[in-house]
Amino acid sequence: MNATSDLRTRAAAALGRCGVDLPDGGALAVTSPVDGTELARLPLHSAEDVDVAIGHAARAFEQWRDVPAPVRGRLVRRLGELLVEHKSDLAELVTLEVGKIPSEAAGEVQEMIDVCDFAVGLSRQLYGRTMPSERPGHRLMETWHPLGVVGVISAFNFPVAVWSWNTAIALVCGDPVVWKPSETTPLTALACDALLRRAADDVGAPDGLHHVVLGDATVGESLVDDPRIALVSATGSVRMGRLVAPRVAARFGRCLLELGGNNAAIVTPSADLDLTVRGVVFSAAGTAGQRCTTLRRLIVHRSIVDTVVERIGKAYSGLRVGNPFDEGVLVGPLVSEKSYEAMRSALDRAAADGGVVVAGGERVDVSGNGVYVSPALVRMPGQTEVVQEETFAPILYVLTYDDLDEAIALHNAVPQGLSSSIFTLDQREAEQFLSRSDCGIANVNIGTSGAEIGGAFGGEKETGGGRESGSDSWKAYMRRATNTVNYSTELPLAQGVEFG
Ligand code: NAD
Repeated sequence: MNATSDLRTRAAAALGRCGVDLPDGGALAVTSPVDGTELARLPLHSAEDVDVAIGHAARAFEQWRDVPAPVRGRLVRRLGELLVEHKSDLAELVTLEVGKIPSEAAGEVQEMIDVCDFAVGLSRQLYGRTMPSERPGHRLMETWHPLGVVGVISAFNFPVAVWSWNTAIALVCGDPVVWKPSETTPLTALACDALLRRAADDVGAPDGLHHVVLGDATVGESLVDDPRIALVSATGSVRMGRLVAPRVAARFGRCLLELGGNNAAIVTPSADLDLTVRGVVFSAAGTAGQRCTTLRRLIVHRSIVDTVVERIGKAYSGLRVGNPFDEGVLVGPLVSEKSYEAMRSALDRAAADGGVVVAGGERVDVSGNGVYVSPALVRMPGQTEVVQEETFAPILYVLTYDDLDEAIALHNAVPQGLSSSIFTLDQREAEQFLSRSDCGIANVNIGTSGAEIGGAFGGEKETGGGRESGSDSWKAYMRRATNTVNYSTELPLAQGVEFG
C-alpha cells in the first residue's frame, strides 16, 4: 500500500468505526495537509438543503424545549460515552484533516469529553436568581428558557472541540444545532454527527436535533441570514466576523463571535526561565502556530532579552518538524500553501521594518505535498504594523521593554484581545498584569494556549467578545425571563404609582 492510499484508507476506516458511510463523490474535495492526499469527495449542500435542515431543527426545538433539562443531559452524557469509545478514531481524523500531532489531536478530543461532563452537570444547574420584590406579597425572579436553533460556524484549526463547546451546552439548554464546519474539515464533522445521532437514538431523543451542512461561506451565509437561527455562534477570522455580525444584527438575531487573536506574553526579570522557555515554545510553535491562542508576541525585559532569545532559539532548533504521524515530530504541517505565503509575506514585511530572524522561518522538505515550515523567531525593533496583525503561522516576534507599564501598554496596543500571559515570580507584577491585560484570558506562569474547558473561553475587541464553554457561558444559549408573581390580595404598583 502506498502512503497516499494509506491515509485515505485510514480516514475511511476511522469514519466507518464512527458510523459514517462515505458518499461516492461530490464537488467538495477533502485533502490532508499531511501530504496533500485527497481523503474523500463529498457533496456540497445548497441553500435549499440548509433551509430543510433548519426546518427540521426548528421542529425538533418544539419537542426538545419541553424535555426537562436534566433529561436533556442524558443525551449529552451518552455522547460523552461515545466520544470516549471513539477517542482514537476522532483523533486520527483530526490529524488526517488538520495535521495536528497525535497528542494534540487526542487532547482536542479530550476537550470534547470534558465539556460533555461539564454540560451534564450544568443540566441540573441552569439557575435563575430570586430578587427581593419592593412590593409586599410579591415574588420577583428570573427564569432561563431554551432559545431556539443554534447555528454553529467553525474554523479549520479546532474542527471538533469548538463544535462540542457549542453543542454540548446548546443541547442541555434545550437548543438544536445546525453546524457548518470549515470546508477543509468536513470528515471530522460527519464523524461527530454520526456519534451524536447514535447517542440520540440510544436515549430516545427527538429526530432532527443536529444537522451538518457542508460548504463554504455561501452555505454559512444561509445560516447567518435565516431568522429561525436564534443564535449564530461563529468561530474564525476577524474578516469573517466583520461580514457575519452586521448580517445577524440586521435581523436582530444573537451572535456569539470567537475570532482571531494576537496573543502576547510578558517576561519579567524575576521569571523562572526554564519554565518560561517551555511555556513559550509550546504556545508559539505548537500546532504549527495555528491556534487562535498561539503566542505571537513576546515582550521581554531588556536585562534578559538576549538570554531569553538565545534559549528559545536553542529550543526551536531541537523541534522536529515533519509528518505528524512520525515518532518524535512536534510540529506538523501548515494547512495550505496560502498559509505559507502569508507567513513568507509577514516575514518579508518584518525584515523591511528592521526585524531580524533569529531562528527558523524556512520551508522544510517533507515527502509528499504537505506544507512544512520551521517556526520563526524574529527580533523586532518595535511593534510595527505586521506585528499588530494575526498571521496564522508560527512566527514569534520578540519586543523589548524597560518598565512594566510600557510592557502592558505594548501588550494592549493591538486590535485583538484573546489570550495573554506574564512570566514572573513577583506577585505585584502578576496582579498588575491580571488587572490591566485587556484580553478575555490572562495567565500567570503558563503560556497563552491550552485553555481548560471549565473557564469561559473568548476574547475582547476584534476577537469578538463572545464566551463559550465553561463558567456561565451557557447564558448565551438561553433566553432570560423576569417573572413577578403577586400572591397577595392587593395590587400595589411598582414605584408607588397610584392609578385610579
Ligand atoms: P475563516 O474565517 O476563514 O473560516 C471560519 C469559518 O467561517 C469557516 O467555516 C468558513 O466557511 C466560514 N465563513 C467564512 N466567511 C463566511 C461568511 N461570510 N459567512 C458565513 N460563514 C463564513 O477561518 P479559518 O481559516 O478556518 O480559521 C482560522 C481563524 O479562526 C484564525 O483567525 C483563528 O484565530 C480563528 N479562530 C478563533 C478561535 C476563537 O475561539 N477565538 C478558535 C479557532 C480559530
